[in-house]
Amino acid sequence: MRYAQSVADLVGNTPLVQLTRVTDGIAATVLAKVEYFNPGGSAKDRIAARIIDAAERDGLLRPGGTIVEPTSGNTGVGLALVAIQRGYRMVFVVPDKFAGAKVDVLKAYGAEVVETPTSVPPEDPRSYYSVADRLVREIPGAFMPNQFANPNGPRSHYETTGPEIWRDTDGRVTHFVAGIGTGGTISGTGRYLHDVSDGVVRVVGADPEGSIYSGGPLHGYLVEGVGEDFLPDSYDPSVPDEIHRIPDAESFAMTRRLAREEGLLVGGSSGMAVVAALRAARDLPASAVVVVLLPDHGRGYLSRFYDDDWLRDHGFDVAGPEASTHEGAP
Ligand code: PMP
Repeated sequence: MRYAQSVADLVGNTPLVQLTRVTDGIAATVLAKVEYFNPGGSAKDRIAARIIDAAERDGLLRPGGTIVEPTSGNTGVGLALVAIQRGYRMVFVVPDKFAGAKVDVLKAYGAEVVETPTSVPPEDPRSYYSVADRLVREIPGAFMPNQFANPNGPRSHYETTGPEIWRDTDGRVTHFVAGIGTGGTISGTGRYLHDVSDGVVRVVGADPEGSIYSGGPLHGYLVEGVGEDFLPDSYDPSVPDEIHRIPDAESFAMTRRLAREEGLLVGGSSGMAVVAALRAARDLPASAVVVVLLPDHGRGYLSRFYDDDWLRDHGFDVAGPEASTHEGAP
């Protein structure tokens, strides 16, 4: 019999699939690494087990303990998969602007969710960060993974995502493209691919327009899970060889094309990464192999950019059939 001991053992070894429709006019091979095949539906499943293993080893988390983390989505799900297996209580602190589908998912996994007001500064005692800090102090046996500072985030990508890409491309990958949120994915995977290829693989970052990683003025943006307004410890700025700054409109339009033309129902940060991948691939020869990481599933965004009214209400164009159909399609 061939079976996993627990669902947490099914994390990683996600497939590569070639993008063939949205890559019109590009000679290089563009391969998507589809992270929604992880059991919690995102790349964040990868970091949870390693963060919890390290906390147990360091005595920060003991049997019967509680995991407290400010997260509105994917990291919470990843942590939940491991916490359920090992009997930890979970308390996730969520800004109220994220109330809805993603938070309901956390509750469905049995987590306690504490909603905090979005419109207060970080130092306010009611803020997302302040409330999480207070809960860690008040709950006996509480541990906060703190994905923005925990070195086990990038380390898990160095140990899993990078080697998988190298193995599955037989060492032929020439470019790796990923969005930057905590920076764990690009820092860990990118560093591995640099190391294993002796610097041949070029690492390409994708950042929402308005975020800090790509420079330029800071302002709000609507793509979720990527971009920051500070430089977290989980990000190693020496890894990316180039970073593209992608407007929300392009990210959402590409995400919708991935669903309709490639059959890949993914989140907005996936579309953003593909826009950067196509920019990087534009002038590459046919021998180039570009791997772009798609972090999560699109089901959590059906009432957002997949919804035409939501798009129009937020000032975006809803692409007509001509715009979303590739050349030569019937
Ligand atoms: N996309 C989504 C949807 C995410 O949840 C995250 C994680 N914050 C990322 C991209 C970026 O990954 P990382 O934090 O490893 O940079």
